[in-house]
Amino acid sequence: MTLDTATAVAWITRAAEIIRADESRLTGLDAAIGDGDHGANLARGLAAAVTSLEETQPESPGKALMAAGRGLVAKTGGASGPLYGTGFRRAGKELGDGTDATGVGDALEAMLRGIEEIGGAVQGDKTMIDALAPAVAAFQEAAGNGADLHAAAVAAADAAEAGLAATVPLQARKGRASYLGPRSVGHEDPGAASTALIMRALAEVTAP
Ligand code: ADP
Ligand code: MG
Repeated sequence: MTLDTATAVAWITRAAEIIRADESRLTGLDAAIGDGDHGANLARGLAAAVTSLEETQPESPGKALMAAGRGLVAKTGGASGPLYGTGFRRAGKELGDGTDATGVGDALEAMLRGIEEIGGAVQGDKTMIDALAPAVAAFQEAAGNGADLHAAAVAAADAAEAGLAATVPLQARKGRASYLGPRSVGHEDPGAASTALIMRALAEVTAP
């Protein structure tokens, strides 16, 4: 199993479906510590990403992720749009022809670095990084131990979910939730929740 073009498109399409299905949960999380738009923002952005894939018919998985990133930047809005958009564009650029587990691990690493670079958040700041960083580490570790793409993606999705749970006791230090100070404690971070769903989508579409 490699991340061929059809699988890359399936990843974005599945992510759009499951974010749409969980839109109200994500919005509820953002209503608690933000402005209540994260579910709607990302559902709109991913729908635009899917449209952009249909229109451009990319001929490589890297180009598919880049096209999705452009759709996300253009239509998501909020803080998460540029962050996810940059992440997918960087991942697509990195992917090139290396579409086995190791190559996808490097692409996910590039996604993480891109989001860190433009958002300035580190692990522990109660953001999407708290789900993405452990997901990338778990993916890389699994791939390094010879896991195939699906097994590495399952490890990443599990780690993202654990990272999401670990955001509950944290106080937000980045983004809108940081304005709440100590009142941001006791809630899951919405962006970490959407990252966990996006990682689960990758695990699903790479299943044999
Ligand atoms: P907004 O906060 O502009 O309304 P969204 O609601 O769409 O945007 O997204 C909020 C999520 O974005 C947060 O839950 C957090 O995970 C993520 N986020 C916000 N700022 C940053 C940042 N600087 N770095 C990484 N992630 C961030
Ligand atoms: Mg918001």
